Amino acid sequence: MGGVSLFGLRHGTIFGEVAPYVAKEKAPGFTPLPQPTALGWLSSAPFLLLISPNGVWVAISLLIYSAFPYDLSPTSTAAAAPLSLAFFAERGPGWLAVTFAYAGFWHVALYLLRLSKRPFIPGRPYNLMKTLHNVFWSFWGVLLWVAFENVFCYLWATGRLRYAPDRDSFGGTAGGALRFAAALVGVPLWRAFHFYFSHRFLHFNALYKYVHSLHHRNTDIEPFAGLAMHPVEHLYYYACVLPSLLFLCSPFAFLWNGVHLLLSPAASHSGWEDHFGGGFFHYAHHRYFDVNYAGADVAFIDAYFGSFAPSFSKEDKEGGVTLREDPKSTLAGPPAADFVAYLAVAAAALWVWARAALALAAGGAPPPAGQALLIAALAGFGPVAAAELGAVLAGAEMGRPAPKGWGAGTYALHIVLGNLCCSVPVAWACWLALQPAAT
Ligand SMILES: [Zn+2]
Ligand SMILES: [Zn+2]
Repeated sequence: MGGVSLFGLRHGTIFGEVAPYVAKEKAPGFTPLPQPTALGWLSSAPFLLLISPNGVWVAISLLIYSAFPYDLSPTSTAAAAPLSLAFFAERGPGWLAVTFAYAGFWHVALYLLRLSKRPFIPGRPYNLMKTLHNVFWSFWGVLLWVAFENVFCYLWATGRLRYAPDRDSFGGTAGGALRFAAALVGVPLWRAFHFYFSHRFLHFNALYKYVHSLHHRNTDIEPFAGLAMHPVEHLYYYACVLPSLLFLCSPFAFLWNGVHLLLSPAASHSGWEDHFGGGFFHYAHHRYFDVNYAGADVAFIDAYFGSFAPSFSKEDKEGGVTLREDPKSTLAGPPAADFVAYLAVAAAALWVWARAALALAAGGAPPPAGQALLIAALAGFGPVAAAELGAVLAGAEMGRPAPKGWGAGTYALHIVLGNLCCSVPVAWACWLALQPAAT
């Protein structure tokens, strides 16, 4: 894969240098990406904090965690309720500042200061409406992350979910140190797989129609496009915190996962080839829709499932890649009726849970076991079921023919892992919040 670059910096610089495989005499996006292999990925995985942007993001996580640690004491805001305005007031402004400062840095540097020289669309006009649209949906995405934080801090603070305390991770016990190291490297590795299977799941017909199409309103991406998602997509995107439910993890591992989820999309959605974290791989996904579903680090998954696109396709001629209009990525005009209807139904499914969880936190009796399970399942699987139902009612093409080259087994694998990555973690966390407090 060419030379090794510290933290993913290219020749030590942030802007103006291409990845080692790129032939500079070719137009941006026309040098084929090297064929990705699982072995290549495996051999670099142990060093990923040193040779990829992950090293920068983990440093940001440690800074945030030490400056704004979670308060999990019995008298904390988090212990009082799984969702509260007080918790949002405590942590929301910080997350909004970090996320928008990071994406804003890329946006300003590339689109206003033009510190890079190789855009995928030469001479593209600045699109303020699209930027505002992306900022708007990213804003809600950050708030939904704060909701995840609120729920998990509540589960920890009330003894509903066990966690490894900081004194283990940072205090020098051998087990704690090992757990800390596993979180540092494990979060980006796990996130890559979670991203592929949850993202691929969102490309199946009904979920694409009602949910993921919002993210794809950008065919020519810019940094704020990274988090510009439908709230239901945010819900399943953040379901990447599943390891914090499965294993005895430290709150830091959870926060590091969140920082990765919030920050990493900015540079990969830049629309430019020559800077830290930038490149062609995900740009192609937004231009062609049905290729490069994974993150660039695990492109071998796309190669394996037959959806790897190494460069611009033949229809896009070198020197003549044209801008595609993004007419739907605007805030001008009212949203479509079916968009509003679906959003309302998905929100209602979660509202049922929120009401029950808040009533319990306020001192009410826990719901009966069967009812708790049903409410949690509705929160986790409801938005998927509502999309399916909506598509049926709208008479949309509901048969989901397996993509070219996929057998029934491959298709089933994606459905099962898609649900495990999206619906199950949400339902699980919601179910825990409906259990009697352990303390
Ligand atoms: Zn997509
Ligand atoms: Zn994207």
